[in-house]
Amino acid sequence: MICERLRLPDGSTAIVCRDRGRGPRCQWGGCKSPAVAECDYPMGAGTCSARVCRRHCLAVGPADDRCPDHARELLELVGGSL
Ligand SMILES: [Zn+2]
Ligand SMILES: [Zn+2]
Repeated sequence: MICERLRLPDGSTAIVCRDRGRGPRCQWGGCKSPAVAECDYPMGAGTCSARVCRRHCLAVGPADDRCPDHARELLELVGGSL
């Protein structure tokens, strides 16, 4: 939950809380954890764009995250495992 103090036009303040849980969810095998990234694996004109949570996301670069499927492909290339 993120709470923010907002200043209203009449000078008073209000606390507004947002539930992060309502954001996008990990679409990996019914995981349903809050998604933290989208897969950046290049596919055709765009990217895979699968939404993944912290656990299912593999960062392969500063702005390059992969879903487990595409992380596996990459890991096989370097001989590692997830
Ligand atoms: Zn997940
Ligand atoms: Zn992917």
